[in-house]
Amino acid sequence: LSSHYPDEVDLPPPAELKSAYDVVIIGAGGHGLAIAYYLARYHGITRVAVLEKAYLGGGNTARNTAVIRSNYLTPEGVRFYGESVRLFKNLSNEFDFNIMYSERGQLTLAHTDATVRAFRQRAEVNKHFGGRTEMIDCQQIRELVPTLNLDPGHLPVLAGLWHADGATARHDAVAWGYARQAAKRGVEIHQLTEVQELIVEGGRLTAVKTNRGTVRCGCAVQAVAGHSSVLAGKAGFRLPVVSYPLQAMVTQPVKPFLDPLVSSSGLHCYVQQTSRGEVVFGGGSDPYPLYSSRSTLELKESLIAHAIEMFPFLAKAKLMRQWAGITDMTPDYSPIMGESPIENYYLDAGWGTWGFKATPICGKTMAELVATGRVPELIAPFHLERFANFQQVNEMGATAASH
Ligand code: FAD
Repeated sequence: LSSHYPDEVDLPPPAELKSAYDVVIIGAGGHGLAIAYYLARYHGITRVAVLEKAYLGGGNTARNTAVIRSNYLTPEGVRFYGESVRLFKNLSNEFDFNIMYSERGQLTLAHTDATVRAFRQRAEVNKHFGGRTEMIDCQQIRELVPTLNLDPGHLPVLAGLWHADGATARHDAVAWGYARQAAKRGVEIHQLTEVQELIVEGGRLTAVKTNRGTVRCGCAVQAVAGHSSVLAGKAGFRLPVVSYPLQAMVTQPVKPFLDPLVSSSGLHCYVQQTSRGEVVFGGGSDPYPLYSSRSTLELKESLIAHAIEMFPFLAKAKLMRQWAGITDMTPDYSPIMGESPIENYYLDAGWGTWGFKATPICGKTMAELVATGRVPELIAPFHLERFANFQQVNEMGATAASH
């Protein structure tokens, strides 16, 4: 398993799986590993096991297109993701490990009057909470991205939303950095360890049953991205989540032509160039719920058609890879974080197509909740009960193809 990450990650050899831990974290993606790290480093809780059915950082953490931004629509969203962006900026220092954080700004295109109006609102909400987001006109867009086609026939560009805080980071390195620092502090990461059953007695979680035996725990956190409702089902409750495949693809390396991230919800497409020169394309989820991470020709054709409308010369580039992950979509396009109907069983779920950028703040706040039993103010709006109380945090308009 260690061949999945470079030597510098330097993880200790696997320990024996013990029969009990203070905290069990289910899922060794960026989120689960971040929770473990903040628990150990900032709360001194180290009798922690992170249980992973496959290998660490091999789920959606390895599959996402690494967009980091905070230009959301609601005050709750802007505050939450804004704090995550702030933590991201110092993560390489905190880890002593380069996560290749690269701030290049994100440009979102408006093709209709309705989108221009929505962008104005986003820009104002963002500015109010300290985000660097502003409306720009076509001339400013031309200066930022000279190679962009502003007149793709049926949907000419009218204006743009420029978010100077938009960035990317090497997603694997984020998982490895958290794993390395958590393991250094005594956290055990058990790969090839699948949680198969949750044992609930008197409304309280007492143990998890794995393919390697039963593990008792003081409390547990589920951080399993595309399998949130599967695990919640094992605990005996339902989540308002529907799981869809989300695909992305990358071309062969080409000469540098694109610094900012460019996205268009009108064209259902976003395009970015990596530091190696490859061009990454992504779009919306597949149109049907499914637990399969197969790539499809249909998505490839439609996504490429839109990417070529934005950058016509890419018609000559060759595609290198296409892949997919399973994304848990909530009705309001916001995550579900905090307590669950089961005592001492916590939820880090509903991360849909947008959860990579939340990795640091999610780890920090969930660790605080586990350590203190108090829900941090930043995540209080994302409680599961919002769906019963009509207190949804509607981020649909700020999610779409921008991730
Ligand atoms: P994962 O990294 O998926 O980790 C969960 C882990 O749980 C997995 O390793 C899995 O094997 C394990 N697991 C599941 N069930 C069990 C079990 N029963 N027992 C033990 N282990 C279990 N977000 C952004 O912010 N920006 C983007 O640009 C972006 N682009 C995306 C593009 C694609 C194609 C996809 C698929 C997603 C994208 N996302 C993006 C979303 C983002 O990837 C996820 O929200 C985020 O990675 C979730 O992190 P995680 O740690 O919760 O999940």
